[in-house]
Amino acid sequence: MCGIVGIIGCHDISTELIKMLHGLEYRGYDSSGIAINLHGNFQIYKKAGPLSILKKEIAGITLKGRSGIGHTRWATHGAPTDTNAHPFLSSKSSVTVVHNGIIENYKALRDKLSDNDYIMESETDSEVIAHLIELFTIHNPDWTFNSLVAYLSTTLKGAYALLIQFADKPNEIYGLRFECPLAYVITTKTVAISSDIASLITYDRNINILRDRQAVHLSLEKEELINFDSTEVDKLHVNVDWDIKAAEKSGYDYFLRKEIDEQSNSVRALKSALIESAGKINSFIKNTNPDSVIFIACGSASYSGVFASVFARQLELKQTVSWEIGSEFRYNPPIINEKTLVIGMSQSGETADTVTALRYAKSKNAKVISVINVVGSTISMIGDLTINLSAGPEVAVPSTKAVINQFIASMFFIEVLRTQDQDSLNKWLSTIDDLAVAIKQVIAMEDSIKSYAKLLAGHQNMFIVGRGLDYPISLEGALKLKETAYIHAESMYAGEFKHGSISLIEYGMPVLILLGDKSVALKTIINAEEVATRGGQLFIIDSLEGEKFDFSSEVNYIKLPHIKNPFNLITQIVALQLLAYHAGLHRNINVDRPRNLAKSVTVE
Ligand code: GLU
Repeated sequence: MCGIVGIIGCHDISTELIKMLHGLEYRGYDSSGIAINLHGNFQIYKKAGPLSILKKEIAGITLKGRSGIGHTRWATHGAPTDTNAHPFLSSKSSVTVVHNGIIENYKALRDKLSDNDYIMESETDSEVIAHLIELFTIHNPDWTFNSLVAYLSTTLKGAYALLIQFADKPNEIYGLRFECPLAYVITTKTVAISSDIASLITYDRNINILRDRQAVHLSLEKEELINFDSTEVDKLHVNVDWDIKAAEKSGYDYFLRKEIDEQSNSVRALKSALIESAGKINSFIKNTNPDSVIFIACGSASYSGVFASVFARQLELKQTVSWEIGSEFRYNPPIINEKTLVIGMSQSGETADTVTALRYAKSKNAKVISVINVVGSTISMIGDLTINLSAGPEVAVPSTKAVINQFIASMFFIEVLRTQDQDSLNKWLSTIDDLAVAIKQVIAMEDSIKSYAKLLAGHQNMFIVGRGLDYPISLEGALKLKETAYIHAESMYAGEFKHGSISLIEYGMPVLILLGDKSVALKTIINAEEVATRGGQLFIIDSLEGEKFDFSSEVNYIKLPHIKNPFNLITQIVALQLLAYHAGLHRNINVDRPRNLAKSVTVE
């Protein structure tokens, strides 16, 4: 979470910093700030609230200077106030710092600084870093880049990506990476460094990625990259082919709506990527010959693992396929050994809970496949094999394109486990073209979906129920409605309802029933009738072949175009996205940036 940026060498430094931060706002948007180094003096502006507030604050002020750092925050320690916003300036104004992550030993460090007469202004864990660096340079006037890195990496406990500027080094930026991402580009005129490649591609597509426990010292004249432990550096470059326009609104009111539209293309992009890597995946799985397969992820990404585990049972795979939540995994692990295949899913590739879970799995000799949407991300570097979801950049905080591609990728892994025959895999992948068409057809039904969204927007609570393959879809739908429309939507196994939760049904309570898994549809319908009998208001999303089902009472029915099972289940996700999007708009929510959230969850 939090986005950090730094730039050296441009003329309109504040505009560049704001532009870069704009590309990172999805990482945190409760406050933001910039520090510009003007001939050895720092000019610092920081404001609570979204970046637009900071922009207003500095509008009309001429900010000179050729370098600076900036931050957009998702607060972990200290409320989102002006004072708690980054950057932080050291007491004697010699150092500024922006930080992404958590300094776990900050209380002890605060005590140490107070003993040296330092007074903290903010309530954050991050402020200590600026003062500590200043104190270090006072005590070590001959300090070097290496000694600074050695000091910080042994003093700070927790996780961090840091950018540091010294007042007396106006054209230099220092960056450190420990469990939070950091990347940079160097052009003839500019050096730019950021938490995320999306804000760097306007400068250069040839991106340098810091590996974990690396630090960089940048200026226009030189670039020094070192490992924290001074071992030989293994540099990592990636060339990013993302279309810059993909990160622009291009006439849409919200990125979320634009990204829903882009899904027809992004599933095709995944198809091409999977066709290209099918052979590699196939032989990796063959060589691993796993006894068990565990999908590990958080939030929406985890539901594709739930889907895979149901799908595997339906196909009667010989391996056990299960799923685990990243944040729980390390503390309550199942049995893992070299015959375990772990598949880690993360849109950002930086999800801290998934990172730690995958590292744990590796320490137990499991084979790991990383499935990510951001090349060069932390999770991409953990896997023995890495698959790119190829969904392109996602800006809206609620994930859409990446989620659908995660579901497809999960299904594909199950197919590979079922058949290692390349021709049948290619045939299976070709069905993605039908899905791309069906996604467009679902989007064309937006008007009727919108009218149902209006009905739902009037309620604070609802259930989404399904059996079999519909259940993981209900999990994703419920999360989308929670994060996008602030409706407390609870996902439920249709058959489980009568064992307690049905007591919440009263007249008008919305219950959305999913009918996509043919093998259990008739049973789900019985459960729907039980709800209707008790006054519940039924909403149906049906992607099965054939006519609509008859119900004994009035229902709000969305009949989706049918495509081959299990791809028909994916079209339900699209309908649920539109439902959540329009319910959110009816409730006047900024659906791109729902409250309290950030897109890339880099803290545990
Ligand atoms: N811990 C820092 C703060 O609260 C940074 C938070 C983050 O990276 O999410 O300001």
